[in-house]
Amino acid sequence: MAVTKIDFPLHALAHPQAETQTQTEEEIQQELAAERARLAMELGLHNGSAQHFRRPAERPFTAEERGKVTILFGGLTWKHEKVIQAVFEASGYRCEIMPVPNVAAFQLGKEYGNNGQCNPTYFTVGNLVQYLQGLEAHGMSRQEIIDKHVFFTAGSCGPCRFGMYESEYRLALQNAGFDGFRVLLFQQNDGIQAASGEPGLKFSVDFGMGMFNALNLGDIMNEMIYRIRPFEVNKGETDRVFRESMDALCHTLRTRKPFEDHEDLPAWLSRKIAENKGKKWELTLNSLGKVYEQLYGKAYKDALRDCYEQLSRIEVDRLRVKPVVKIIGEFWAQITEGDGNFNMFAFLEREGAQVLVEPIGTWVMYMMYQVKERAREKCAVNARYKNPAAWELHKRARNQLQFFPKWLMWTVGERIYARQYHRVVEALGGIAHHLVSQKEMARLAHPFYNQFARGGEGHLEVGKNVYYTVNRLCHMVLALKPFGCMPSTQSDGAQSAVANHFKEMIFLPIETSGEGEVNAHSRVQMALGEAKVKARMEFEQALESTGKSLEDIKNYVAEHPTLRRLYYPMPERKGITGVAANFVLHVNDLMNGKARLARVPEPARELAVA
Ligand code: SF4
Repeated sequence: MAVTKIDFPLHALAHPQAETQTQTEEEIQQELAAERARLAMELGLHNGSAQHFRRPAERPFTAEERGKVTILFGGLTWKHEKVIQAVFEASGYRCEIMPVPNVAAFQLGKEYGNNGQCNPTYFTVGNLVQYLQGLEAHGMSRQEIIDKHVFFTAGSCGPCRFGMYESEYRLALQNAGFDGFRVLLFQQNDGIQAASGEPGLKFSVDFGMGMFNALNLGDIMNEMIYRIRPFEVNKGETDRVFRESMDALCHTLRTRKPFEDHEDLPAWLSRKIAENKGKKWELTLNSLGKVYEQLYGKAYKDALRDCYEQLSRIEVDRLRVKPVVKIIGEFWAQITEGDGNFNMFAFLEREGAQVLVEPIGTWVMYMMYQVKERAREKCAVNARYKNPAAWELHKRARNQLQFFPKWLMWTVGERIYARQYHRVVEALGGIAHHLVSQKEMARLAHPFYNQFARGGEGHLEVGKNVYYTVNRLCHMVLALKPFGCMPSTQSDGAQSAVANHFKEMIFLPIETSGEGEVNAHSRVQMALGEAKVKARMEFEQALESTGKSLEDIKNYVAEHPTLRRLYYPMPERKGITGVAANFVLHVNDLMNGKARLARVPEPARELAVA
């Protein structure tokens, strides 16, 4: 936008009193009117023809293009991306995963984007430009790139800069010479329906449920890999087995046959259905069948069992003392596995920590909780009968009934989401955590951060910090917050009060940007030093309480190799954080006859995939 130059009488600043003495009110008003007229003229608003801004129309992604156009997406972990790609492909789309954004992408984002954006904007926008430039360098013409690709991403209407992502993508693409490149948006508030407004990307039950499963699988596998790798006996085994398992899961998601009522129901029913194809009840029945098959179908259950079996080959040594570092922070910064957060997870593991990552599921639950809670808060404002008296019970009841359907819908949504998530957690051996109650998180955060202060992760950062500390689920909390992130800056202010309140808390906020990696790593190293001491002390106290030496424990484990199996169901004690400390206490119980060696469930026969 052009910068408007306003001539201001500078002497008025130097002698304000003199100015007021010499100017009458009338003169001031005249000067104001003249200035207003000048500005209006300059901005083309003088003839009252101001036009509202309209979003520029974009060439649609049509159904005919589906087989020819590649959907590009990225920005999550490789586990999430692989399963999402499989679901796209299962629905007949061509789909490619973008590389993990690096510093070069960040620089491109700065070069082609607006000033003053937050760090994830630069990384992700620059990454798209970098990818398209790569295609051009490999001989594809710009027009071909624009015609044969679309970009699929998430968007929002704010309140933070997330609301600007879409326009930032368009601006950078335009500046980089890819004007007309299509960006399809998955709106945070409207769900996938916004993206499916274009017929090329069509929302169907199979596609939606496939994405639901993909998100859960991505979350759970992502958490599991970080929980297992620090304890693997054979270096590199976890990564290798997880790659194989993810490939197998993706193969199932890609090739499973979707449910069709006229094909998959008993013959007598199928005939009836074939006669009524397209009727409302038939479509509803077909959709319900699809939902059931996606969640409970044999193909999916078998894939989960196979995955369990593959992972069960990993051998672990639970006697390694590792500080547990809980990662919190901004959505993208706490997920990406690259330069966008200084490769923090790999760094922490190299430094001997066990990383506790955050699932996207928490965010989904947060969104649902927010809608429900907001509706509850607005209940009195939107009520049909305002301020009914105490005895006007029927009015009060009707006001409540007005709110009830919305409340019920979101409550059911939350329950279904959590139920399905936990079902997959259990099917994969119960290694990943269950989703934390949103109500509990809001309650814990509330003294420091109001749950209705929106933007970014809202109160979640504070809620998670308190939750993981008071329940002793980690030794240290590391908050990854991007440079220029408005909501993170806000919650950082509250976090100093939180850290003051909980003296035992080791909390470190790190501002991530395109540079400063060495500085960030050394700050993490310092805090991690404290966390290591905490973990070591916990382990030593646990060992001392057993009255046994580490050698005794090791010898017992060597005689009972089942204790090194990944799926050995090791109990966790309340208040004990570290894996090694918990393990020592359990082995002691076994040695003293207070507990019995548990059997590892065999997936093919015993593992119940409910
Ligand atoms: S939460 Fe922060 S980093 Fe993320 S989009 Fe909003 S302002 Fe940017």
